[in-house]
Amino acid sequence: MKTLREALADADARQAAIGHFNISEFGALKGIMDGARELSAAHGGDKLPILIGVSEGEREFLGVKEAAAMVRAMRDMFDYPVYINADHTHSIDKVREVAEAGFDEIIFDASKLPFEENLAQTKEAVALARSINPAIVIEGEIGYIGSSSEIVSERPQESMKYSTPDEAARFVRETGVDVLAPAVGNMHGLLKSMVTGEDHKKLDIALIGEIKKAIGGAGCRFMTLHGGSGTADEDFVAAAKNGMTIIHVSSELRLAWRQGMERSLKDQPDEIAPYKLLGPSVEHIKNIVSGRLRLFNGI
Ligand SMILES: [Zn+2]
Repeated sequence: MKTLREALADADARQAAIGHFNISEFGALKGIMDGARELSAAHGGDKLPILIGVSEGEREFLGVKEAAAMVRAMRDMFDYPVYINADHTHSIDKVREVAEAGFDEIIFDASKLPFEENLAQTKEAVALARSINPAIVIEGEIGYIGSSSEIVSERPQESMKYSTPDEAARFVRETGVDVLAPAVGNMHGLLKSMVTGEDHKKLDIALIGEIKKAIGGAGCRFMTLHGGSGTADEDFVAAAKNGMTIIHVSSELRLAWRQGMERSLKDQPDEIAPYKLLGPSVEHIKNIVSGRLRLFNGI
């Protein structure tokens, strides 16, 4: 089994992106695994690597060790390259907790702070995480793109400020992160107009290419697109081709979970077996994951 670092290098060489999907409970994990495994089987059996993300809130609900154990069980049982990421980790104490629990990746996110402070705190997080597990992949974030995977009516104003190649290069050089998350037109959550598919997020593809080049010169090879939900299909394809190595999708899965559950409760008003009620949500998540992985992997 490849390590996450090897899987990232491999995706980078293929100009593809690893799909990153968040979970709150086991049904979503099941849907994500089914979508990834079925698509891989349909494409010659090459197992497409995926990341399972758990934010601080999701970890609080699931349990840090429980989440790590669930993903590890999937990896072993299906012999599948599935890795676990501590999504948006805001404190040094929580960095220690997830590094000790055996997470494959940590995103240390101090992007809400002024640039210099973000840089100093991220540097500290990198040193701590590596002292616990030298193999861990650590990501830092610059530029604010909104904070939560929700449905909002307006774009957060701060998310209109894009990252520059210069600040990206300086940030990776001084912090030593393995992966950079820049602001390039992406944002967390979905706008109301995106729920129905009438509106899409538009990315600055040229800027993605420029930042990729700038960080490469500063010794950092990988880049993550956060807030991928609701992005136009052609922008997903172009983002992977132009340097994004990981693409996050969370809000779309949350919406699918909710819509599946609403349909279930409506169609089966007397049903009380949770595994039966969860069926449509799992199916809906599976279809989104396989559709997104097609775009991220150019298949
Ligand atoms: Zn994010």
